[in-house]
Amino acid sequence: MRRSNLSLVLRHVSEYGPRSRSVVAMETGLNKTTVTSLVSELQARGLLKEIGPQHAGAVGRPGLALALDGSGVGALGLEVNVDYIAAFATDLGGRVLIDRRVSFDAMGCDSDRSLMELARVIGEAMAELDLLEVRVAGITVAVPGLVDTATGTVDVAPNLGWYGVPVAEWLVRAGVPPTVPISVDNDANLAALAEFTGGVASGTSDLVYLTGEVGIGGGVISGGRLLSGADGFAGEVGHVMVDPSGERCGCGRIGCWETKVGLAALVRMATPDHAYGMHDGVMRDPEERLAEIELRWAAGDPRVDLAIGEVGRWLGRGSATLVNLFNPRVIVIGGYFAKLADRLIPVAQAELKRLGVEGSVARCDFVASDLGFGAASRGAAGIVTERVLSNPTAIDVRLAAPAPEKERE
Ligand SMILES: [Zn+2]
Repeated sequence: MRRSNLSLVLRHVSEYGPRSRSVVAMETGLNKTTVTSLVSELQARGLLKEIGPQHAGAVGRPGLALALDGSGVGALGLEVNVDYIAAFATDLGGRVLIDRRVSFDAMGCDSDRSLMELARVIGEAMAELDLLEVRVAGITVAVPGLVDTATGTVDVAPNLGWYGVPVAEWLVRAGVPPTVPISVDNDANLAALAEFTGGVASGTSDLVYLTGEVGIGGGVISGGRLLSGADGFAGEVGHVMVDPSGERCGCGRIGCWETKVGLAALVRMATPDHAYGMHDGVMRDPEERLAEIELRWAAGDPRVDLAIGEVGRWLGRGSATLVNLFNPRVIVIGGYFAKLADRLIPVAQAELKRLGVEGSVARCDFVASDLGFGAASRGAAGIVTERVLSNPTAIDVRLAAPAPEKERE
């Protein structure tokens, strides 16, 4: 009961902005004494602060306004993908503290090596946050695959070659402090949440997000909620079979959608001399691969034009199925799709119109994400913030106190 009331007060101030204790009491329906006690606890946990007098109405004594503090509480999100690891951190108020991507060939090495690199990126980020005097309230790792979220284990991530990898357990052994909760989740679901809460289609209660990476994942927001399925595995759109006589996918099956629209497919068609899997000793970030494709397109290489047209058509074909199934208002295309959106969207939209159920497609548009590669790391940090708002008691009061060593200095 107390925990949910703490959450109610914290969320209220977070959503509606600074207000006095009596206003909070009035608006939440809690009594004034309860609010005073809850606020003291939230202050002790470093989540709320007093910022000065605020008039509650025309009459009466002004109360001290409470505001979300949280500048000392951080949320850290990571994303492991085929060719990079992304890190994104905010404080509880949403101020961005870290936003970066490190090139890394996860496809070319085993899971232990990838996890070592992930642990290194986490260690670096935590050291930076420590310098900013920000305590990390939690870490969420986004992975392109099926995740057992209860244990933080990746069941299978075909493009990373991960099968039964206990990511959370591994990171604790690698030195992430046991006081910092670690969770692991699917990248497309986290990116869809990031789009829903702060992207181009933010607030659209029915949207589909597509990750334009080597793998294609889907996150479906339906009626304002993330569609997760019985095991949290919903949205594996990249492995829907679209061409029974197509190519073999990273998952082992034939003709999956991502063999038609994944970044590896585009690269193979547009720049066959630099296809994925040709280990020529050069690790290319997706941005570099796209820069090269743009360069060749500008130089008039006909293969590039054909390749982008082909991806656009298959993007529309697969999306027609999604529109028929989920009736979204918007299909947000992320990752590399967003970078090529000007040329992909007209082709995809025409194909969607041709193949989807009329009423649904007439009211559904493709929109390019502006969150860039690493949208999932942003969603991952968002989940950590959401957990703190839902359960403020997860923030250790002892940690909120100033560090004694620093006081002595
Ligand atoms: Zn597949």
